[in-house]
Amino acid sequence: MTLVVTGGAGYVGSVCARHLLDAGNDVVVVDDLTTGHRDAVPDGARLVVGDVADVADEVLGAGDVDGVVHCAARSLVGESTEQPAKYWHGNVVTTIALLDALRRHHVPRLVFSSTAATYGEPETSPITEDAPTRPTNTYGATKLAIDHAIGNYAAASAGGLGAVSLRYFNVAGAHTGTTGVPALGERHAVETHLIPLVLQVALGQREEIAVFGDDWPTPDGTCVRDYIHVDDLAEAHLLALDLLARGEAPDGGHLVCNLGNGTGFSVLEVIEACRRVTGHPIPARVAPRRAGDPGVLVASSARARDQLGWKPSHTDLDGIVADAWAFARSR
Ligand code: UDP
Repeated sequence: MTLVVTGGAGYVGSVCARHLLDAGNDVVVVDDLTTGHRDAVPDGARLVVGDVADVADEVLGAGDVDGVVHCAARSLVGESTEQPAKYWHGNVVTTIALLDALRRHHVPRLVFSSTAATYGEPETSPITEDAPTRPTNTYGATKLAIDHAIGNYAAASAGGLGAVSLRYFNVAGAHTGTTGVPALGERHAVETHLIPLVLQVALGQREEIAVFGDDWPTPDGTCVRDYIHVDDLAEAHLLALDLLARGEAPDGGHLVCNLGNGTGFSVLEVIEACRRVTGHPIPARVAPRRAGDPGVLVASSARARDQLGWKPSHTDLDGIVADAWAFARSR
């Protein structure tokens, strides 16, 4: 197939592009390189530099594109609340332009990077896809709005567009190719994610890690999250495209699937894993809770398993951290 990966110079997008190429597809990456890295675009992919909304017609009109994996997004939770326009325009308006272009050029498949942030503070755990969606930040609200838009476009196209929204939980680890060298991982200019921040302490790039709250209603008082290896996540995109190619999207043409390991780890457990993997003492200090953080976010991935045939293979936290550590040290 010929597939377009938007945001293919970013963390998740580049790993998805790599997996798609390895499976024998032709891949075009679209990325404006504002947060992505040119050298993260996998060898063998063609890079088109530009905003998705600006280049969609050029890219989708050029030939027979079989599908789009739409990862390009603004994705900093804190920033989203301070600068809502950047997120409503950058995520929602851009994706509507993409949906219009998909329709104009009769592109039949879309896989969208959605997020657990669409659920907000959950009432039950693990979270299933029919849980209430009440996002607690602008980022999650924009992703939820896009999920709704995709559902409407898919339903109205009467079989013309099949779509899968994948709601990622906490993506972590790095892609290790056949060489065993972790080539693609997380490198954000502004790093806010727990595992890379903890590893920065082990690398001597920061003094300590702040633990955002130790008074949560969890076994050790720190927040619990569901960490999923980026290679497992990427595989789900391939399975979603396969499902759409078989014409097995549900009635209405839009499937929403959570993606997580189904196991929760606390902030302290993550720090301990990082200590084991790096051999560094990693000083930690308790800090106030971070605004908008839910206490526990753990996925039910039953639907991904049943509908996509997806099963994560990197469920061990130390293994996920070890890949992230190998990548961090290689930079
Ligand atoms: N966290 C923390 N200290 C940090 C960064 C994150 O204690 O410096 C916590 C955060 O409160 C959350 C968990 O680690 O409970 C994972 O946060 P991250 O930003 O990696 O992902 P999120 O769950 O917000 O998507």
